Amino acid sequence: MSWRADILTIFPSMFPGPLGESLAGKALAEGKWSLNVTDIRAFGLGRHRSVDDTPFGGGAGMVMRPDVVDAAISAVADERPLLFLSPRGTPLMQARVRELAEGPGAVLLCGRFEGVDQRVIEARGAEEVSIGDYILSGGELPALVLLDAVIRLLPGVMGHAESGVEESFSAPLLEYPHYTRPALWDGRAVPEVLTSGNHAAIAAWRMAQAREITQTRRPDLYKDYSLGVHTHDSLGVHTHDSLGVHTHDSLGVHTHDTLHPGPPRPKSPFRKGH
Ligand code: SAH
Repeated sequence: MSWRADILTIFPSMFPGPLGESLAGKALAEGKWSLNVTDIRAFGLGRHRSVDDTPFGGGAGMVMRPDVVDAAISAVADERPLLFLSPRGTPLMQARVRELAEGPGAVLLCGRFEGVDQRVIEARGAEEVSIGDYILSGGELPALVLLDAVIRLLPGVMGHAESGVEESFSAPLLEYPHYTRPALWDGRAVPEVLTSGNHAAIAAWRMAQAREITQTRRPDLYKDYSLGVHTHDSLGVHTHDSLGVHTHDSLGVHTHDTLHPGPPRPKSPFRKGH
């Protein structure tokens, strides 16, 4: 059975939104994943289908009621993980994305207003997930972000070569920079090594770039990398670089792993021969 996403929201028309386009949209149409959106308001109370109320203890804003949210969860919950998108949650990392992609799917609860009554989060054992240290006005965009990250990893969604490589290789480094035609643009040439045809030199250059960029921009990731702590794989390293980017060198001294043949790489524009 294909990967199943359930969304609980008071704005169902926000789905599939951007996930109806491009790779995710095609995969949805092909049944590689499925989407079921439930309007929490259908479980709302009274004539106005009310889903929220004022906070105990006072303060600004409204809070989503536990009874209403619980009824909505009951309508769809099964063995899949229940995730509550929340700025108070565990930051979403690629490792968790990967785990979710390997599972049967997920139920995603989108908060609005000041959030959701904490009791229903606890009672349901929901996993709180944040997409970053900033506050959005609702959990719908975070749910779309999480789904996008998962869907591109599902079997057959990305190009075969790319996804295969992605499964096998990952590294806690940011990715090296990319270049395509024209080789000279606006007075700027692409780095010479990339047009050299010397694959070992290109691999070494990309590796050096990945390390340098990570060290400058994300010293936190670089520290893990140099210590060989690969508990999560980070943002950008996709991985048609089989370049020894995942070489574990605990001294921070890179050992060029360029002998590793690795999986086939997508063709560089410079190797297409025109
Ligand atoms: N008062 C809350 C913010 C509520 S924002 C606080 O200060 O923590 C309303 C809803 O938007 C949240 O319930 C959550 O579902 C969603 N949301 C906002 N920012 C988010 C983020 N960074 N990651 C995931 N969900 C977020």
